[in-house]
Amino acid sequence: MVGSRIDVGLMGATGTVGLRLAEMLEAHPWFRLAEAGASAGSAGRRFGDALADLGVEDTALSDAVLDLELREPDGEWEAGLLLSALPSDAAAPIERGLAVRGHLVVSNASSHRMDPDVPLIIPEINPEHLELLERQRRRWPGAIVTNPNCSVAGLAVALAPLHRAFGIEAATAVTMQALSGAGRSEGLAERVEDNILPYIPGEEEKIGLEAQKILGVLTGEGIRPAAFPVSAQAHRVPVSHGHLLAVSVKLEREATPEEAAAALSGFEPALDVDLPSASHRLIEVLDERDRPQPRLDRDRGAGMTVSVGRVRRCEALDLKFSALVHNLVRGAAGAALLNAELCRVRGLLGVGGVGAGRGAAP
Ligand code: NAP
Repeated sequence: MVGSRIDVGLMGATGTVGLRLAEMLEAHPWFRLAEAGASAGSAGRRFGDALADLGVEDTALSDAVLDLELREPDGEWEAGLLLSALPSDAAAPIERGLAVRGHLVVSNASSHRMDPDVPLIIPEINPEHLELLERQRRRWPGAIVTNPNCSVAGLAVALAPLHRAFGIEAATAVTMQALSGAGRSEGLAERVEDNILPYIPGEEEKIGLEAQKILGVLTGEGIRPAAFPVSAQAHRVPVSHGHLLAVSVKLEREATPEEAAAALSGFEPALDVDLPSASHRLIEVLDERDRPQPRLDRDRGAGMTVSVGRVRRCEALDLKFSALVHNLVRGAAGAALLNAELCRVRGLLGVGGVGAGRGAAP
Protein backbone atom coordinates (compact mmCIF):
# COMPACT_ATOMS: atom_id res chain seq x y z
CA MET A 1 0.00 0.00 0.00
CA VAL A 2 1.36 3.42 -0.95
CA GLY A 3 -0.15 6.42 0.85
CA SER A 4 -3.72 5.45 1.45
CA ARG A 5 -4.08 3.53 -1.81
CA ILE A 6 -4.52 -0.23 -1.87
CA ASP A 7 -2.22 -2.24 -4.14
CA VAL A 8 -4.02 -4.23 -6.81
CA GLY A 9 -2.87 -6.70 -9.44
CA LEU A 10 -4.17 -6.74 -13.01
CA MET A 11 -4.37 -9.90 -15.14
CA GLY A 12 -4.68 -9.52 -18.91
CA ALA A 13 -3.11 -6.08 -18.63
CA THR A 14 -2.02 -5.85 -22.28
CA GLY A 15 -5.52 -6.51 -23.65
CA THR A 16 -8.23 -4.09 -24.67
CA VAL A 17 -9.98 -4.19 -21.29
CA GLY A 18 -6.77 -4.56 -19.28
CA LEU A 19 -5.23 -1.44 -20.78
CA ARG A 20 -8.39 0.56 -20.08
CA LEU A 21 -8.36 -0.72 -16.51
CA ALA A 22 -4.71 0.22 -16.08
CA GLU A 23 -5.49 3.73 -17.34
CA MET A 24 -8.49 4.10 -15.04
CA LEU A 25 -6.37 2.98 -12.08
CA GLU A 26 -3.84 5.78 -12.65
CA ALA A 27 -6.07 8.38 -11.07
CA HIS A 28 -8.01 6.09 -8.79
CA PRO A 29 -8.41 7.43 -5.25
CA TRP A 30 -8.46 4.01 -3.52
CA PHE A 31 -6.45 1.59 -5.68
CA ARG A 32 -2.92 1.60 -7.11
CA LEU A 33 -1.78 -0.70 -9.91
CA ALA A 34 1.17 -2.52 -8.34
CA GLU A 35 1.37 -5.75 -10.36
CA ALA A 36 0.42 -6.67 -13.93
CA GLY A 37 0.35 -9.91 -15.90
CA ALA A 38 -0.54 -11.13 -19.38
CA SER A 39 -0.07 -14.42 -21.27
CA ALA A 40 2.92 -16.69 -20.76
CA GLY A 41 4.36 -15.23 -23.98
CA SER A 42 4.53 -11.77 -22.41
CA ALA A 43 5.73 -12.86 -18.95
CA GLY A 44 8.98 -11.24 -17.83
CA ARG A 45 8.65 -8.36 -20.28
CA ARG A 46 8.33 -4.69 -19.35
CA PHE A 47 4.64 -3.69 -19.59
CA GLY A 48 5.49 -0.67 -21.78
CA ASP A 49 7.54 -2.79 -24.21
CA ALA A 50 4.78 -5.38 -24.57
CA LEU A 51 2.30 -2.60 -25.34
CA ALA A 52 4.69 -1.01 -27.87
CA ASP A 53 5.01 -4.36 -29.69
CA LEU A 54 1.23 -4.44 -29.95
CA GLY A 55 1.34 -0.98 -31.56
CA VAL A 56 0.00 0.73 -28.43
CA GLU A 57 2.18 3.82 -27.97
CA ASP A 58 -0.09 6.55 -26.78
CA THR A 59 -1.34 5.59 -23.33
CA ALA A 60 -2.25 7.52 -20.22
CA LEU A 61 0.03 5.27 -18.15
CA SER A 62 2.73 6.54 -15.80
CA ASP A 63 6.36 5.46 -16.13
CA ALA A 64 6.02 3.47 -12.91
CA VAL A 65 3.26 1.38 -14.48
CA LEU A 66 4.94 1.07 -17.88
CA ASP A 67 8.02 -0.22 -16.05
CA LEU A 68 6.15 -3.08 -14.33
CA GLU A 69 7.45 -6.53 -15.21
CA LEU A 70 4.62 -8.68 -16.54
CA ARG A 71 3.89 -11.76 -14.45
CA GLU A 72 3.13 -15.32 -15.44
CA PRO A 73 -0.63 -15.80 -15.73
CA ASP A 74 -0.66 -18.52 -13.09
CA GLY A 75 2.19 -17.12 -10.99
CA GLU A 76 2.20 -15.73 -7.45
CA TRP A 77 0.68 -12.34 -6.67
CA GLU A 78 1.28 -10.10 -3.64
CA ALA A 79 -1.93 -8.09 -3.87
CA GLY A 80 -5.03 -9.40 -2.16
CA LEU A 81 -7.27 -7.80 -4.81
CA LEU A 82 -6.76 -8.98 -8.39
CA LEU A 83 -8.63 -7.52 -11.35
CA SER A 84 -9.04 -10.00 -14.19
CA ALA A 85 -9.27 -9.12 -17.88
CA LEU A 86 -8.29 -12.62 -18.97
CA PRO A 87 -9.85 -14.47 -21.89
CA SER A 88 -12.56 -16.74 -20.53
CA ASP A 89 -10.89 -20.07 -21.30
CA ALA A 90 -7.74 -19.03 -19.44
CA ALA A 91 -9.70 -17.32 -16.67
CA ALA A 92 -11.61 -20.41 -15.54
CA PRO A 93 -8.73 -22.34 -13.90
CA ILE A 94 -6.58 -19.30 -13.07
CA GLU A 95 -9.30 -17.40 -11.20
CA ARG A 96 -10.40 -20.53 -9.33
CA GLY A 97 -6.79 -21.21 -8.28
CA LEU A 98 -6.39 -17.66 -7.02
CA ALA A 99 -9.60 -17.88 -4.97
CA VAL A 100 -8.24 -21.10 -3.45
CA ARG A 101 -5.09 -19.15 -2.52
CA GLY A 102 -7.17 -16.50 -0.75
CA HIS A 103 -7.29 -13.70 -3.33
CA LEU A 104 -10.34 -11.62 -4.11
CA VAL A 105 -10.68 -11.86 -7.90
CA VAL A 106 -12.88 -9.25 -9.56
CA SER A 107 -13.39 -10.51 -13.08
CA ASN A 108 -14.54 -9.37 -16.49
CA ALA A 109 -14.41 -12.89 -17.88
CA SER A 110 -17.53 -14.96 -18.47
CA SER A 111 -16.12 -18.23 -17.06
CA HIS A 112 -17.62 -17.96 -13.56
CA ARG A 113 -20.47 -15.51 -14.12
CA MET A 114 -23.18 -18.17 -14.06
CA ASP A 115 -21.72 -20.24 -11.18
CA PRO A 116 -24.49 -20.39 -8.56
CA ASP A 117 -22.14 -19.15 -5.80
CA VAL A 118 -20.55 -16.33 -7.82
CA PRO A 119 -22.17 -12.90 -7.72
CA LEU A 120 -22.76 -11.21 -11.09
CA ILE A 121 -23.01 -7.62 -10.05
CA ILE A 122 -23.92 -4.16 -11.24
CA PRO A 123 -23.57 -2.25 -7.94
CA GLU A 124 -26.42 0.16 -8.66
CA ILE A 125 -28.80 -2.72 -9.47
CA ASN A 126 -28.07 -5.79 -7.33
CA PRO A 127 -25.40 -5.01 -4.68
CA GLU A 128 -27.10 -7.42 -2.26
CA HIS A 129 -26.02 -10.34 -4.48
CA LEU A 130 -22.54 -9.87 -2.99
CA GLU A 131 -23.88 -11.92 -0.07
CA LEU A 132 -23.36 -14.98 -2.28
CA LEU A 133 -19.73 -14.77 -1.15
CA GLU A 134 -20.84 -16.42 2.09
CA ARG A 135 -21.50 -19.53 0.00
CA GLN A 136 -18.03 -19.33 -1.59
CA ARG A 137 -16.44 -19.34 1.86
CA ARG A 138 -17.38 -23.02 2.10
CA ARG A 139 -15.26 -23.73 -0.99
CA TRP A 140 -12.18 -21.51 -0.67
CA PRO A 141 -10.73 -18.70 1.48
CA GLY A 142 -10.78 -16.17 -1.38
CA ALA A 143 -13.63 -15.04 -3.61
CA ILE A 144 -14.66 -14.42 -7.22
CA VAL A 145 -16.92 -11.50 -8.12
CA THR A 146 -17.94 -10.88 -11.73
CA ASN A 147 -19.39 -8.12 -13.89
CA PRO A 148 -21.66 -8.84 -16.84
CA ASN A 149 -21.10 -9.17 -20.54
CA CYS A 150 -20.76 -5.74 -22.17
CA SER A 151 -24.21 -5.76 -23.83
CA VAL A 152 -25.87 -7.01 -20.66
CA ALA A 153 -24.27 -4.13 -18.74
CA GLY A 154 -26.50 -1.79 -20.78
CA LEU A 155 -29.52 -4.06 -21.08
CA ALA A 156 -29.82 -4.93 -17.38
CA VAL A 157 -29.45 -1.27 -16.39
CA ALA A 158 -32.22 -0.26 -18.81
CA LEU A 159 -34.54 -3.12 -17.83
CA ALA A 160 -34.12 -2.73 -14.05
CA PRO A 161 -36.28 0.42 -13.65
CA LEU A 162 -39.01 -1.02 -15.88
CA HIS A 163 -38.97 -4.31 -14.01
CA ARG A 164 -39.15 -2.52 -10.67
CA ALA A 165 -41.97 -0.17 -11.73
CA PHE A 166 -44.13 -2.30 -14.01
CA GLY A 167 -42.81 -5.89 -14.03
CA ILE A 168 -41.37 -7.31 -17.24
CA GLU A 169 -43.09 -10.26 -18.88
CA ALA A 170 -40.76 -10.62 -21.88
CA ALA A 171 -37.93 -8.70 -23.55
CA THR A 172 -36.18 -8.75 -26.90
CA ALA A 173 -32.83 -7.09 -27.64
CA VAL A 174 -31.13 -6.61 -31.00
CA THR A 175 -27.54 -5.61 -30.30
CA MET A 176 -25.21 -3.62 -32.55
CA GLN A 177 -21.84 -4.27 -30.94
CA ALA A 178 -18.65 -2.29 -31.46
CA LEU A 179 -15.33 -3.73 -32.61
CA SER A 180 -13.55 -3.21 -29.28
CA GLY A 181 -16.04 -5.60 -27.69
CA ALA A 182 -14.19 -8.42 -29.43
CA GLY A 183 -10.82 -7.48 -27.91
CA ARG A 184 -7.75 -8.08 -30.09
CA SER A 185 -9.47 -10.05 -32.81
CA GLU A 186 -7.35 -10.51 -35.89
CA GLY A 187 -9.00 -9.57 -39.19
CA LEU A 188 -12.26 -8.48 -37.56
CA ALA A 189 -12.00 -4.83 -38.62
CA GLU A 190 -11.61 -5.91 -42.26
CA ARG A 191 -14.53 -8.34 -42.08
CA VAL A 192 -16.79 -5.65 -40.64
CA GLU A 193 -15.76 -2.87 -43.03
CA ASP A 194 -18.81 -1.89 -45.11
CA ASN A 195 -20.50 -4.81 -43.41
CA ILE A 196 -22.41 -6.19 -40.40
CA LEU A 197 -21.84 -9.64 -38.92
CA PRO A 198 -25.12 -11.18 -37.72
CA TYR A 199 -23.43 -13.68 -35.40
CA ILE A 200 -21.20 -13.34 -32.33
CA PRO A 201 -20.33 -16.76 -30.88
CA GLY A 202 -21.96 -17.45 -27.52
CA GLU A 203 -23.29 -13.91 -27.14
CA GLU A 204 -27.04 -14.38 -27.48
CA GLU A 205 -27.17 -17.15 -24.85
CA LYS A 206 -25.15 -15.03 -22.38
CA ILE A 207 -27.35 -11.97 -22.78
CA GLY A 208 -30.55 -13.67 -21.63
CA LEU A 209 -29.08 -15.74 -18.80
CA GLU A 210 -26.96 -12.93 -17.34
CA ALA A 211 -29.79 -10.37 -17.44
CA GLN A 212 -32.07 -12.85 -15.63
CA LYS A 213 -29.43 -13.50 -12.96
CA ILE A 214 -28.74 -9.79 -12.33
CA LEU A 215 -32.44 -8.97 -12.11
CA GLY A 216 -33.08 -12.07 -9.99
CA VAL A 217 -33.81 -12.26 -6.27
CA LEU A 218 -31.36 -13.36 -3.59
CA THR A 219 -32.90 -16.20 -1.54
CA GLY A 220 -31.57 -18.58 1.10
CA GLU A 221 -30.82 -21.04 -1.73
CA GLY A 222 -28.97 -18.52 -3.93
CA ILE A 223 -30.22 -16.36 -6.79
CA ARG A 224 -33.71 -17.00 -8.16
CA PRO A 225 -33.36 -15.62 -11.71
CA ALA A 226 -35.94 -13.22 -13.12
CA ALA A 227 -38.56 -15.36 -14.83
CA PHE A 228 -39.10 -13.36 -18.01
CA PRO A 229 -37.57 -14.62 -21.27
CA VAL A 230 -35.01 -12.47 -23.09
CA SER A 231 -34.64 -13.04 -26.82
CA ALA A 232 -31.36 -11.55 -28.06
CA GLN A 233 -29.95 -11.13 -31.58
CA ALA A 234 -26.32 -10.02 -31.59
CA HIS A 235 -24.56 -8.17 -34.42
CA ARG A 236 -21.00 -6.87 -34.86
CA VAL A 237 -20.98 -3.45 -36.53
CA PRO A 238 -18.20 -1.15 -37.82
CA VAL A 239 -18.11 1.14 -34.77
CA SER A 240 -15.01 1.54 -32.60
CA HIS A 241 -16.60 1.67 -29.12
CA GLY A 242 -20.17 1.63 -27.80
CA HIS A 243 -22.84 -1.04 -28.10
CA LEU A 244 -26.29 0.11 -29.24
CA LEU A 245 -29.29 -2.07 -28.34
CA ALA A 246 -32.81 -1.99 -29.81
CA VAL A 247 -35.00 -3.30 -26.98
CA SER A 248 -38.70 -4.24 -26.79
CA VAL A 249 -40.52 -5.18 -23.60
CA LYS A 250 -43.85 -6.71 -22.66
CA LEU A 251 -44.95 -5.40 -19.26
CA GLU A 252 -47.07 -6.96 -16.50
CA ARG A 253 -48.72 -3.61 -15.72
CA GLU A 254 -49.61 -1.12 -18.43
CA ALA A 255 -47.37 1.93 -18.89
CA THR A 256 -47.30 4.75 -21.40
CA PRO A 257 -43.98 5.67 -23.04
CA GLU A 258 -43.96 8.80 -20.86
CA GLU A 259 -44.39 6.76 -17.68
CA ALA A 260 -41.63 4.37 -18.78
CA ALA A 261 -39.28 7.27 -19.59
CA ALA A 262 -40.02 8.76 -16.15
CA ALA A 263 -39.26 5.42 -14.47
CA LEU A 264 -35.96 5.22 -16.36
CA SER A 265 -34.78 8.77 -15.69
CA GLY A 266 -36.02 8.75 -12.07
CA PHE A 267 -34.50 5.38 -11.18
CA GLU A 268 -32.96 5.38 -7.72
CA PRO A 269 -29.91 3.10 -7.70
CA ALA A 270 -29.97 0.35 -5.10
CA LEU A 271 -26.63 1.54 -3.70
CA ASP A 272 -26.44 3.18 -0.28
CA VAL A 273 -22.90 4.60 -0.68
CA ASP A 274 -21.03 6.79 -3.17
CA LEU A 275 -18.41 4.86 -5.13
CA PRO A 276 -15.65 6.76 -6.97
CA SER A 277 -16.33 5.13 -10.36
CA ALA A 278 -20.10 5.45 -10.25
CA SER A 279 -21.50 8.14 -12.52
CA HIS A 280 -23.68 10.88 -11.18
CA ARG A 281 -26.46 9.55 -13.44
CA LEU A 282 -26.78 5.84 -14.08
CA ILE A 283 -29.34 6.38 -16.86
CA GLU A 284 -29.93 9.39 -19.02
CA VAL A 285 -33.06 9.51 -21.16
CA LEU A 286 -32.52 11.56 -24.32
CA ASP A 287 -35.34 13.44 -26.05
CA GLU A 288 -33.85 13.80 -29.54
CA ARG A 289 -35.38 11.44 -32.11
CA ASP A 290 -32.00 10.27 -33.43
CA ARG A 291 -30.23 9.49 -30.14
CA PRO A 292 -28.46 7.72 -28.54
CA GLN A 293 -25.61 7.29 -31.02
CA PRO A 294 -22.29 5.57 -30.18
CA ARG A 295 -20.00 8.40 -31.25
CA LEU A 296 -22.04 11.14 -29.59
CA ASP A 297 -23.23 9.45 -26.42
CA ARG A 298 -20.84 6.66 -25.34
CA ASP A 299 -18.70 8.93 -23.13
CA ARG A 300 -21.64 10.30 -21.16
CA GLY A 301 -20.82 10.12 -17.43
CA ALA A 302 -17.19 9.25 -18.32
CA GLY A 303 -18.55 6.13 -20.03
CA MET A 304 -20.51 4.93 -16.98
CA THR A 305 -23.94 6.32 -17.93
CA VAL A 306 -26.32 4.22 -20.01
CA SER A 307 -28.12 6.44 -22.53
CA VAL A 308 -31.70 5.57 -23.47
CA GLY A 309 -33.79 7.15 -26.20
CA ARG A 310 -36.81 6.74 -28.45
CA VAL A 311 -39.04 5.27 -25.74
CA ARG A 312 -42.22 4.53 -27.65
CA ARG A 313 -45.03 2.06 -28.20
CA CYS A 314 -44.15 -1.31 -29.67
CA GLU A 315 -46.57 -2.83 -32.17
CA ALA A 316 -45.61 -6.41 -31.18
CA LEU A 317 -44.89 -6.15 -27.40
CA ASP A 318 -45.73 -3.06 -25.29
CA LEU A 319 -42.84 -0.58 -25.45
CA LYS A 320 -39.57 -0.24 -27.34
CA PHE A 321 -36.47 1.94 -26.98
CA SER A 322 -32.77 2.25 -27.83
CA ALA A 323 -30.04 1.92 -25.20
CA LEU A 324 -26.34 2.66 -25.53
CA VAL A 325 -23.53 1.36 -23.30
CA HIS A 326 -19.79 2.04 -23.51
CA ASN A 327 -18.62 -1.56 -23.77
CA LEU A 328 -15.12 -0.90 -22.43
CA VAL A 329 -16.16 1.29 -19.52
CA ARG A 330 -19.64 0.53 -18.11
CA GLY A 331 -19.42 -2.82 -19.91
CA ALA A 332 -15.95 -3.88 -18.70
CA ALA A 333 -13.18 -1.84 -17.01
CA GLY A 334 -15.45 0.61 -15.18
CA ALA A 335 -17.77 -2.23 -14.19
CA ALA A 336 -14.92 -4.21 -12.62
CA LEU A 337 -13.57 -1.16 -10.81
CA LEU A 338 -17.01 -0.39 -9.44
CA ASN A 339 -17.31 -3.97 -8.18
CA ALA A 340 -13.89 -3.71 -6.53
CA GLU A 341 -15.01 -0.48 -4.87
CA LEU A 342 -18.19 -2.17 -3.64
CA CYS A 343 -16.10 -4.99 -2.18
CA ARG A 344 -13.96 -2.47 -0.37
CA VAL A 345 -16.88 -0.60 1.20
CA ARG A 346 -18.40 -3.94 2.22
CA GLY A 347 -15.20 -4.68 4.17
CA LEU A 348 -13.88 -7.47 1.96
CA LEU A 349 -10.38 -6.03 1.64
CA GLY A 350 -9.49 -5.33 5.23
CA VAL A 351 -7.91 -7.58 7.82
CA GLY A 352 -9.99 -10.76 7.86
CA GLY A 353 -11.56 -9.88 4.51
CA VAL A 354 -11.25 -12.41 1.70
CA GLY A 355 -8.81 -10.28 -0.29
CA ALA A 356 -6.55 -9.37 2.60
CA GLY A 357 -3.26 -9.66 0.75
CA ARG A 358 -0.15 -7.63 1.51
CA GLY A 359 -1.57 -4.59 -0.23
CA ALA A 360 -4.88 -4.66 1.59
CA ALA A 361 -5.90 -1.72 3.68
CA PRO A 362 -6.08 -2.11 7.44
P1 NAP B 1 -7.97 -9.09 -25.44
O1 NAP B 1 -7.88 -7.71 -25.94
O2 NAP B 1 -7.89 -10.20 -26.41
O3 NAP B 1 -6.82 -9.27 -24.30
C1 NAP B 1 -6.56 -10.51 -23.71
C2 NAP B 1 -5.52 -10.35 -22.60
O4 NAP B 1 -5.34 -11.62 -21.95
C3 NAP B 1 -4.13 -9.93 -23.05
O5 NAP B 1 -3.52 -9.23 -21.99
C4 NAP B 1 -3.41 -11.26 -23.25
O6 NAP B 1 -1.98 -11.17 -23.05
C5 NAP B 1 -3.98 -12.07 -22.12
N1 NAP B 1 -4.00 -13.51 -22.43
C6 NAP B 1 -4.28 -14.11 -23.60
N2 NAP B 1 -4.20 -15.46 -23.46
C7 NAP B 1 -3.88 -15.69 -22.18
C8 NAP B 1 -3.67 -16.88 -21.41
N3 NAP B 1 -3.79 -18.09 -21.94
N4 NAP B 1 -3.34 -16.75 -20.10
C9 NAP B 1 -3.23 -15.53 -19.53
N5 NAP B 1 -3.42 -14.38 -20.21
C10 NAP B 1 -3.75 -14.46 -21.51
O7 NAP B 1 -9.35 -9.31 -24.65
P2 NAP B 1 -10.32 -8.20 -23.99
O8 NAP B 1 -11.29 -7.70 -24.97
O9 NAP B 1 -9.50 -7.23 -23.25
O10 NAP B 1 -11.17 -9.09 -22.99
C11 NAP B 1 -10.67 -9.54 -21.76
C12 NAP B 1 -11.78 -10.25 -21.00
O11 NAP B 1 -12.83 -9.31 -20.72
C13 NAP B 1 -12.44 -11.39 -21.79
O12 NAP B 1 -12.80 -12.41 -20.91
C14 NAP B 1 -13.66 -10.73 -22.38
O13 NAP B 1 -14.69 -11.64 -22.67
C15 NAP B 1 -14.06 -9.77 -21.25
N6 NAP B 1 -14.85 -8.61 -21.65
C16 NAP B 1 -14.45 -7.85 -22.69
C17 NAP B 1 -15.22 -6.71 -23.02
C18 NAP B 1 -14.84 -5.81 -24.17
O14 NAP B 1 -15.61 -4.86 -24.45
N7 NAP B 1 -13.73 -6.03 -24.87
C19 NAP B 1 -16.34 -6.39 -22.28
C20 NAP B 1 -16.69 -7.20 -21.19
C21 NAP B 1 -15.93 -8.29 -20.88
P3 NAP B 1 -0.91 -11.12 -24.26
O15 NAP B 1 -0.79 -9.68 -24.67
O16 NAP B 1 0.35 -11.62 -23.62
O17 NAP B 1 -1.42 -11.99 -25.35
